[in-house]
Amino acid sequence: MTAKIIDGTAIAAQVRADVAEGVRKREAAGLHRPGLATVLVGEDPASQSYVRSKRKACGEVGIESFGFELPASASQEEVEGLVTRLNADPKVHGILVQLPLPSGLDEEQVLNKISIQKDVDGFHPVNIGRLAQKGREPLFVPCTPSGVMLMLEQFAATIEGANAVVLGRSNIVGMPVALLLVRANATVTICHSRSRDLPAICRQADILVAAVGKAGMVRADWVKPGAVVIDVGTNRVEDATRARGYRLAGDVAFDEVKEVAGAISPVPGGVGPMTIAMLLRNTLRAAALAD
Ligand code: NDP
Repeated sequence: MTAKIIDGTAIAAQVRADVAEGVRKREAAGLHRPGLATVLVGEDPASQSYVRSKRKACGEVGIESFGFELPASASQEEVEGLVTRLNADPKVHGILVQLPLPSGLDEEQVLNKISIQKDVDGFHPVNIGRLAQKGREPLFVPCTPSGVMLMLEQFAATIEGANAVVLGRSNIVGMPVALLLVRANATVTICHSRSRDLPAICRQADILVAAVGKAGMVRADWVKPGAVVIDVGTNRVEDATRARGYRLAGDVAFDEVKEVAGAISPVPGGVGPMTIAMLLRNTLRAAALAD
């Protein structure tokens, strides 16, 4: 059996089209264009590239983006001061502080400063706290995890009652994915670097989400036949045949796992495109909250 491919590029394109339509409707109704402020501290090339992609994607759906750059030497007060000004700016509906911040800055304090109505990354402690509590609704859910959930929903995976295993417990991916799966009534096991016998735990999974950062870690004999596998991992693997000298690979050994799984998301073209699409969706929502 060869798994169905969960095409993140196609699902993300639909989300972007829906957001573009939402922006057009706002304009037709005489409402503000949604605005996203990006805050980039330091010169990390990967962060610069992520911010560029996010701003480009905004432009493509009619969201206005405002870029703010501070040097790596910026003080905690300067970064928090910028966030405070953006909180007060009515043209800015969403604020994205690109992580990680340079060492020496207190990330939690910066995230804490973002108005929860503008927290389009969903990392404010109040939004994450609400995500973890029964009967509470976060205003925003982190983008990669909500992208994972949308892929599962679009694929019509049965989440309620399913055994779900999440590999990884980071603040930005593993833990919020696990919380979302619990909210969707899955029975969730969270694994991390101290977990014992990962293959045996993974073999119990009807839904397996890998967010570890180790290329090809999940092998075919870790996967229950027919399981739905979502691969968040985005790893650079040396590849002399490519002009740039590397290729992107997921945490799942795709070629062998696709022979066992019922469905699988590829890397690239899986979760990656979903993250920015969900950011755009959150920004449109932030504009609606401000109306
Ligand atoms: P982190 O490094 O923050 O977290 C990795 C997690 O994996 C930790 O919980 C860690 O455990 C766990 N882990 C590490 N090694 C092992 C192991 N050998 N066995 C079991 N668990 C292990 O990474 P992120 O969550 O930020 O990212 C994970 C992956 O997802 C990366 O490849 C990243 O590039 C990708 N990513 C992709 C995105 C996208 O848009 N597609 C967005 C964000 C991330 P412990 O807690 O014990 O240290």
